[in-house]
Order: sequence, then structure tokens, then C-alpha cells
Amino acid sequence: MSAPPPAPALPGYRHVYSGKVRDLYAPLDDDNRLLVVATDRVSAYDHVLRTTIPDKGRVLTLLSLWWFDQLADLVPNHLVDGRIPAAVAGRAVLVQRLQMFPVECVARGYLTGSALEEYASGGAVCGVPLPAGLVDGSRLPDPVFTPATKAALGDHDENVDFEHVVATVGAETARELRTLTLAVYGRAEQIVRDRGVLLADTKLEFGVDAGGRTVLGDEVLTPDSSRFWPAASWAPGGPQPSYDKQFVRDWLTSPASGWDRRSDTPPPPLPDDVVAATRDRYVEAYERITGLAFV
Ligand code: ATP
Ligand code: MG
Repeated sequence: MSAPPPAPALPGYRHVYSGKVRDLYAPLDDDNRLLVVATDRVSAYDHVLRTTIPDKGRVLTLLSLWWFDQLADLVPNHLVDGRIPAAVAGRAVLVQRLQMFPVECVARGYLTGSALEEYASGGAVCGVPLPAGLVDGSRLPDPVFTPATKAALGDHDENVDFEHVVATVGAETARELRTLTLAVYGRAEQIVRDRGVLLADTKLEFGVDAGGRTVLGDEVLTPDSSRFWPAASWAPGGPQPSYDKQFVRDWLTSPASGWDRRSDTPPPPLPDDVVAATRDRYVEAYERITGLAFV
């Protein structure tokens, strides 16, 4: 596992946490807020790579803001107004500090990734039985809630069944998380479908605010948290092209990288053409989904 590099100091803020992609700061005068800074870091196979992708932090931030707006009538979100330091302008948001639920709230409308593996070994995903005969990339009869536990930095998240969520957060909150997650998926899936994109799955994180309200936090519906597939090339039966760091993963697993994918060997730096193609892919996702030009 390669950890994120030390977060740069920001005057007026205290660094509180760095995840694989984001650095979190607390304003010195307000412990109820957080500044969430999206860096240009990219992670793959549970490593934070030493090469960064130009503009990735800005794309993730702009896209997430756009989605929060699209979803505002469905679920309250963690965004608050306030000044963003110039050093991180465009790739940071000020948010309410939430008590995060330790559950990755995933909704899937198509079968792939860890859900496909689980389905292959037992015909169900997170305790939800699925029809026989599905293949990689198949559309599911109905979207399903497939929660996962939030792993510590460097560990894999693990799919769990609904009862596990009930045991973790209580029955009422578990039902609320499932309802909200499926509602967000349904709205988003429809919006992108109109733009020629399939939303295969998405991961949301919720928390509780000071008033006890369930609030949507983290980032939403970005290529880092969701699988977006061009609808035109969708062909179940194998991996689908997707609007994300696919070029990074493909190169790292190709002989060209010379990397053994072992967790104790850091991945090599990415070649310039892989960086450029990945940057373009993130920008394309933003422009395609929002219909806006990335500037
Ligand atoms: P991990 O925390 O497992 O390392 P990650 O590598 O995905 O996750 P990032 O996405 O880089 O981490 O960092 C974002 C972190 O901020 C996550 O831990 C997320 O749960 C947390 N977070 C997001 N929104 C809020 C919020 N409003 N209040 C508190 N924490 C938040
Ligand atoms: Mg995250």
C-alpha cells in the first residue's frame, strides 16, 4: 500500500485527515466544518500512485457540485457556504462536519466488479438473489442496494448484506440509507441515460449532522465513486469501457509497466500518454454528463 503524500499546510486550517484522493482540513475557528480538498491524486489497486492526473481534482469537485444540485430535492447534502482559500480554489468545498456512517452505500443497476464475483460464487449479491444467466455488464432487473463496510486505508471494502447494516446503524437508519441510495441512483441513472451514458453503479456516503438529520456527504457520482459506461458501446459479456481511470489500470496490469501488483511493491510512475489519456477521460465524463464545457 502506498499512502498519500503529506498534505500541504493551509493558513487558517488544521489538517485532520488524508484519504486516497482528498485532504480534509478543519477551519481553526470552526470545528463543525471541514474543507474537503480534492487533489489530483489517483489510486489503483489500493495504491495511491506517485503520478498525478492534471485537473482531476477540479473535475471531481465541479462534477460533485453539479450532482448535489441535481439531487437537492431528494436528499440534504453537506455543502455550506463560505470562503475557499485561493490555494485550493476550484477543487475544494466547505462542508458540515458529519458523523459518517461506517457503511459504503452502493446501488447497482448493472452487474460487474465485486458484485459479479459474488454472483458467480452463489447467485446472490449482498444477500439479494439475482436471476440465473447474468454475465459481466448485464443490466439487473431492478437496481439493488449492495452495501459494503468501509475499510481502513489500504484495505478492500467488503460487501455485506442488509442485516449487517441493520446491526451497524439500526433498522430505521438502514432502511433510510437504502431508500435514499436507490432514489439517488434512480435519478442519476435517468439523467445520464438521456446523455448516452449508463450508470452501472455508484457509491454514496451518508452521515448525521448536529441536528440528527441524515445528510449526503463525501463526493457524489464522480468517475471515482461510480462506473459510467458509454451506452453506445455497451455489450454485456465482458468488461465495458468506462469513463474513469481505466487507462491507468490497463497500463499497470500490462507487461509494459513491469509491475507485479503486490501490495508491498509501489506501482511505477505512469507514462505521459497514459496521464494525458486519463485526464481527457475525466474531462470527457464531466462534459458528457453535465453538458457543460470544462474550463
Ligand atoms: P478512506 O477514508 O477510507 O481512506 P478514501 O480513501 O476514499 O476513504 P477520500 O475520499 O480521499 O478517502 O477522503 C474523503 C474522506 O472524508 C472519507 O473518509 C469520507 O468518509 C470523509 N468525509 C466526506 N464528507 C465528510 C463530512 N461531511 N464530514 C466528515 N467526513 C467526511
Ligand atoms: Mg472516498
